[in-house]
Amino acid sequence: MPLQDFPRHPLLFGPSPVHPLERLSEHLGGARIWAKREDCNSALAFGGNKTRKLEYLIPEALAQGADTLVSIGGVQSNHTRQVAAVAARLGLKAVLVQEDWVDWPDPVNDKVGNILLSRIMGADVRMGTAGFGIGIKESWTEALESVRAAGGTPYAIPAGASDHPLGGLGFAGWAHEVQRQERELGVFFDTVVVCSVTGSTQAGMIAGFAGQDRPRRVLGIDASARIVETRAQVSKIARNTAGLLGLGRDLHDEEITVLEGWAGDRYGVPVASTLEAIRLTGGLEGMILDPVYEGKSMAGLIDLVRTGTIAPQSHVLFAHLGGQPALNAYSGAFR
Ligand SMILES: *Cc1c(COP(=O)(O)O)cnc(C)c1O
Repeated sequence: MPLQDFPRHPLLFGPSPVHPLERLSEHLGGARIWAKREDCNSALAFGGNKTRKLEYLIPEALAQGADTLVSIGGVQSNHTRQVAAVAARLGLKAVLVQEDWVDWPDPVNDKVGNILLSRIMGADVRMGTAGFGIGIKESWTEALESVRAAGGTPYAIPAGASDHPLGGLGFAGWAHEVQRQERELGVFFDTVVVCSVTGSTQAGMIAGFAGQDRPRRVLGIDASARIVETRAQVSKIARNTAGLLGLGRDLHDEEITVLEGWAGDRYGVPVASTLEAIRLTGGLEGMILDPVYEGKSMAGLIDLVRTGTIAPQSHVLFAHLGGQPALNAYSGAFR
């Protein structure tokens, strides 16, 4: 059924801002680069891409009579911080399993940034020991069980809100929002660059854009350093979301592009190109990127523009998905 028929609980300010990155475009000397800013899309604890996804999960949680949102992520997960904020706003409880996803030795990693914000908002933060992986974990099942045992009604939100039937809808809506903003601005973005890890952000975009008349490229930049899994995940969620929305045709493999080369060896650990992208974008535009996700996707965009893979006459839209609170655990990378 069409997107507007799915229940949506508003959590955003409205459409997220779109603006040109003129100095960065000049500096790279190629395509015209713009940004769409999910990092300032909501009044809830700095927002981000997960807040947009949650708009379509929350109606189901409320309809089921849930009193506790249960979710999982790394210690510096942006996703769990956004779940904590949404729970606070709705008067629900939040149980967050924070695992050891990142081998990052910063002494304040488990004290500042996202995890600090989740604690401030009253979430029940539980430290886990499992490594990176977006599948279903024992710790997560235990967390759900503990809520039930205490007489509560949990609502389970998987890592990144991705492995969930409704996880792709938020960014299918983003695709429609882009189309409306293009009409207002008199511009067409032939290329979208987006960071991919748990997959439903890019997958939702692909499903949303697939229903539009004018084709464009959605280039996912893998930041998980597990390209095979990321591709499989994006492909699965894009096809599921397209089916839900009644696209009426199969997605072609060419519509699903996830590129590797900028993740480094490990999720959550910045490499030289990540730090260069963060410094360049900060110094030229005053736009702040994080070292786990957006620094890596911007590093990809920079290379693709420099090499002409994104053509000089292109208008490219960088999807800024948020994530800056994690920077607090990465001061050592900028000394
Ligand atoms: C979660 C996240 C991503 C990746 O989005 P997925 O939907 O998991 O692929 C990118 N950037 C930021 C800031 C994130 O928090």
